[in-house]
Amino acid sequence: MASSNGMDRYQRLEKLGEGTYATVYKGRNRVSQEVVALKEIHLDAEEGAPSTAIREISLMKELKHPNIMRLMDVIHTENKLVLVFEYMDQDLKKYMDAHAKATHGALDLLTIKKFMFQLLRGIAYCHENRVLHRDLKPQNLLINKRGELKLGDFGLARAFGIPVNTFSNEVVTLWYRAPDVLLGSRMYSTSIDIWSAGCIMAEMYTGRPLFPGTTNDDQLQRIFRMMGTPTEQTWPNVSQLPEYNKANQQYYPPQTIFQILTNIDPLGLDLLNRMLQYQPQLRIPAKEALNHSYFDQVRNLPFGE
Ligand code: ADP
Ligand code: MG
Repeated sequence: MASSNGMDRYQRLEKLGEGTYATVYKGRNRVSQEVVALKEIHLDAEEGAPSTAIREISLMKELKHPNIMRLMDVIHTENKLVLVFEYMDQDLKKYMDAHAKATHGALDLLTIKKFMFQLLRGIAYCHENRVLHRDLKPQNLLINKRGELKLGDFGLARAFGIPVNTFSNEVVTLWYRAPDVLLGSRMYSTSIDIWSAGCIMAEMYTGRPLFPGTTNDDQLQRIFRMMGTPTEQTWPNVSQLPEYNKANQQYYPPQTIFQILTNIDPLGLDLLNRMLQYQPQLRIPAKEALNHSYFDQVRNLPFGE
């Protein structure tokens, strides 16, 4: 019988993906035959796993919700930290890419609504437990064949910090990052996840990322071009944020309607507008968003219970 305290409990199968912190493999529990995802986090050879990271990850084990990817086990070896998660079929990015080929991008309207409802339910649960995600993006949303959507990567940003590059040297995307964070605010609140959710919603409707910036400045410019450059009138105290003046911003007049979203209904547009607010405190909380009429059609459907 395998030792109950190591990787020998799992058979490692093919690679599923690579992320910001880890390489993820499909795996199988040798005893129960259950299929899982093995997320191997590469540790600094000398420092090993930081104790703060271990603490954050232990907290993740307590998060149990149908829209949060379930962390089943943590295996800590000398040079690796392996997180054992429930297996999911695909991430939302790959799903959207597959659709882009078939239908020129956009997802069907009911699917978007069901995904957004589940995304916001997962976010609401985490925020209720005072956990921020900080790095919501399509690659971190996992889906399965039953149409369930779950948030992955929760707590890792906090455990390890958001690096500039992934360990495989890909640049970490800024596309879903809130303007307050881009402007250098360090008062992170739950509202940063709502901004990301808004960007993801728009992307599902168009099949393209809403603000595909390449640098911090370019990311801000793209947001300003579409939503107007924020001023003291539209965002009190914005000029006190560390990066506001540095950016040497061009002035773009305020905009309210996202002209690029042609297939969204008025309720969806209203919800989106409430998520993509400049002022963090004006962004709709996840729990409130779930009560928006946009979701009337899907609110009573069973999602993974
Ligand atoms: P990181 O924290 O390093 O960014 P992720 O958790 O985002 O790692 O995983 C990287 C990729 O691996 C995901 O984008 C997804 O394609 C795949 N993946 C992650 N978790 C699972 C899972 N539970 N089931 C199936 N695939 C997964
Ligand atoms: Mg990731």
